[in-house]
Amino acid sequence: MMGERPHKPIFVVQKHQARTLHYDFRLEIDGVLKSWAIPKGPSLNPAEKRLAIMVEDHDLSFGDFEGTIPEGDYGAGEIIIWDKGFWEYLPDKQRATAKEAIGNGKLRFLLYGMKLKGGWQLARLRRAKAEWILTKNADEHADDTIDIAKSSPSSVLSRQRS
Ligand code: MN
Repeated sequence: MMGERPHKPIFVVQKHQARTLHYDFRLEIDGVLKSWAIPKGPSLNPAEKRLAIMVEDHDLSFGDFEGTIPEGDYGAGEIIIWDKGFWEYLPDKQRATAKEAIGNGKLRFLLYGMKLKGGWQLARLRRAKAEWILTKNADEHADDTIDIAKSSPSSVLSRQRS
């Protein structure tokens, strides 16, 4: 419709201090947040392959959540919004949709976040279907000199700047 802004799907990375620290990497696809838990967090170094365990889809609204999940509830612990922005799917030669690309085990995309930018890919490992690898493309946003999870540990929301 005229005057309507094209919808830009969001991505969010929630740093989750549950029993073990991990980073929940979420991409909006078809109205839900497809989600992967990344124990070490994303790396800007293209040589670093970060294990990403595919977990259940989350509601879009959960992408705004920052706070504490109470003891005794699923995922109990602190969650901060470590990064957030828009993402753009890069179709393969077969012109698969993003959902199909996930089914095929390979998703290429651009991130427009505050910490994560440029080209990335998620590739499923052959043997265990829930195990994927997240890697940064070697582009102008790559950086092999820092571990961004450590050098930039805080929330991107101003109220949690610390
Ligand atoms: Mn989590």
